[in-house]
Amino acid sequence: MTEQTDVVVVGGGVVGTAAAYQLVERGIETVLVDDGREGSATAAGAGIVSPPTSSRRENDDWFAFAELAAAHYPELISELEAAGIDDHGYKRGEMLSVALTPAEAETIETDRERARRRDASVEEITPAEAEAAFPALSGVERALRFPGAGRVDGAMLTDALGRAARDSGLTTVDGRVEEILTESGAVSGVVVDGGDRIDAERVVVAGGAWSGGFGDDLGCSLPVSPIRGQILHFDASDIFDDPAALPIVGSVADNYIVPWADGRIVVGATREDDAGFDPRVTAAGVQAVLDSGLRLAPGLADATFEEVRVGLRPGSPDSLPILGPVPGVDGAYVATGHGPTGLTLGPYSGAVVAQLIAGEEPAADLSAFDPARF
Ligand SMILES: Cc1cc2nc3c(=O)[nH]c(=O)nc-3n(C[C@H](O)[C@H](O)[C@H](O)COP(=O)(O)OP(=O)(O)OC[C@H]3O[C@@H](n4cnc5c(N)ncnc54)[C@H](O)[C@@H]3O)c2cc1C
Repeated sequence: MTEQTDVVVVGGGVVGTAAAYQLVERGIETVLVDDGREGSATAAGAGIVSPPTSSRRENDDWFAFAELAAAHYPELISELEAAGIDDHGYKRGEMLSVALTPAEAETIETDRERARRRDASVEEITPAEAEAAFPALSGVERALRFPGAGRVDGAMLTDALGRAARDSGLTTVDGRVEEILTESGAVSGVVVDGGDRIDAERVVVAGGAWSGGFGDDLGCSLPVSPIRGQILHFDASDIFDDPAALPIVGSVADNYIVPWADGRIVVGATREDDAGFDPRVTAAGVQAVLDSGLRLAPGLADATFEEVRVGLRPGSPDSLPILGPVPGVDGAYVATGHGPTGLTLGPYSGAVVAQLIAGEEPAADLSAFDPARF
């Protein structure tokens, strides 16, 4: 095992892997440690990248950062493609937001106004147009079309970033970081499984929902808590000619259907903030997702069920990321708390933390995300 490096990144989800990629691209020696635990959010994420339709869109700090993060995607994807990595799982597309009842239809007006206030490109389409665009829909009352959305397979993107980073010199370690070490108010390394030590003057905590456990080591409060998400995958190739070409569909009631590039149709998801660190599939979770999914798209009833994925989203008390240097500990950085929008924000958060470590000035205003706010 490597015994000394410049930076240790704790956590190899989308956030930690993006940070590691950006660090090695800047010539900074980096070791990424991940223990592959069950419940990682990245592999379970639906992958919608669409700030104007997000449930977080009304928060100005979140929205400003999310717009930068969405704009970062094409840049990052071009870099990966230039490095010969085409299987990154990202695709641009459109998203429909649909209302199924007269009461839901009223919120379409509010949604359109909100999107316009955010200068988002949006148009109202007829129910027939919505049902033609996604033929499993039925009973649509009103619908909006957002042409500027994107979708990403989190596991594929993270794998692609990891490969690109390893090509640029990243060392990865399969193991659990047990402790972050500090001496005289500065990071001095980490202890991995069973006592092995990696010396480093900088550490990035990107441990997703489990990040809070490092608060004690760093003498700060890191109030990250798990929000469990159960999400269902279907093979719908018998129902649609080209499932991957369908738009994303979101209901104004906040459930969604996402066509993935491999032809799967993904229906999600529960948001359970009372399940703790328990990455289980539950009867009630599956029932809730199926009920809301089939209500939205009854035409999926005959799709072939493939699997349920479960991820623990890293939630924060104010639903904003926790991103930046840890007060009072030189060399300690945190990049977590991205909750339900970490596939949108995560690659950019990784870039921002690498910029901070490299002494560059990030374009984003990070003040609302300061780890010192708790
Ligand atoms: C069902 C569901 C749907 C979602 N849909 C969307 C969506 O449509 N759009 C969107 O933008 N976001 C979505 N998200 C949110 C997004 O997936 C997460 O916010 C994001 O993946 C969090 O990434 P992360 O790297 O912070 O955490 P994770 O992916 O959880 O990664 C953390 C990693 O840290 C490792 N780790 C933790 N502690 C240690 C330790 N001590 N030692 C070693 N390794 C450690 C774990 O093994 C894990 O691999 C969704 C999430 C879920 C669950």
